Amino acid sequence: MAKDPICGMDVKEEGALHFLHYEHETIYLCSKTCKETYTRPPGMGKPTAKKGILGRFLEKLAKQNKQNYGDTPPKCH
Ligand SMILES: [Zn+2]
Repeated sequence: MAKDPICGMDVKEEGALHFLHYEHETIYLCSKTCKETYTRPPGMGKPTAKKGILGRFLEKLAKQNKQNYGDTPPKCH
């Protein structure tokens, strides 16, 4: 059994889906989220920052759609 350094959960080495090779060690993580947290360079901000960017992007997209199509959403067919 290996230990996830992020959340402290026990991770089975065999068939592990999320792991990284770090120098001569293999680090096992329970989930993609923990892996991303582990690999994220310091100063990149909290996971919520990513959501903020996506939120802004979607807002921009909605604004563009409004400009292109007015208040009525585009219809299919
Ligand atoms: Zn974890």
